[in-house]
Amino acid sequence: MEDDAFVLRIYPYAESDAIVVVLTRQSGKLRLICRGLKRPQNALHGIISPFNLVSIRFSADDPHQLGRLFEASLNQGFYLQPERLSDFYFCSHMAEVLLSVEIDPQYGARIYRLVSALVSCIAHRGYTPADLLYFYFWLLRLEGWHPDVGVCGRCHRPFSGENPPAFFQDADLAVVCEACRLPGESSERPEMEKFVALQTCMLRRPPDEVTDTAGVSSNISSFISRYSRKISDITGKKYKSLVFIQ
Ligand SMILES: [Zn+2]
Repeated sequence: MEDDAFVLRIYPYAESDAIVVVLTRQSGKLRLICRGLKRPQNALHGIISPFNLVSIRFSADDPHQLGRLFEASLNQGFYLQPERLSDFYFCSHMAEVLLSVEIDPQYGARIYRLVSALVSCIAHRGYTPADLLYFYFWLLRLEGWHPDVGVCGRCHRPFSGENPPAFFQDADLAVVCEACRLPGESSERPEMEKFVALQTCMLRRPPDEVTDTAGVSSNISSFISRYSRKISDITGKKYKSLVFIQ
């Protein structure tokens, strides 16, 4: 079989082999054994390397069993640049999160597209915190864990000038309208208006067009924390790699 893949992780295996975990476009996540990868003269050296986007030829009869990786060619290489360590930490974090979530093959192609768009985007212009929010937002949406965008999470009416967003409900990431906000819930109306605009932008545009989030950018880390907490709650994992990008 042939497919496009994002290299998530490589484990040493036996004397000179490796187990490669990839996110593919068509088959979700796969664990493939790559014979001789640890030998310096191996043809796949530098191609099968973390965070590269590659095309692979492989066999995997059962996605839960080890398959075999035969050939690979490079589509987009990840090159570690000392002045851009945050690119590396971001890719490490994406990989760590993707390793921890189940990927429904039905949405696998869209998750692959999300990851490859983000990798290409940071290769082009470097990581920005909006990339992390974009990754969380779309991963949660594709996994079915994100509420509808642009409507109140309680009354489900669309937001508008008369029905402004005012409160963020951490438990399910829903934005709540001013009318539904309870007395104990403090209004964050201007912040939430900007955030809903940013969500709408993420919904419609590729990641490289979402960087200029004037207004929200000052507070983007609070939304990143809320999204990452949600993902940790769902998977039961604490992500070590997140420490470096916050
Ligand atoms: Zn409402």
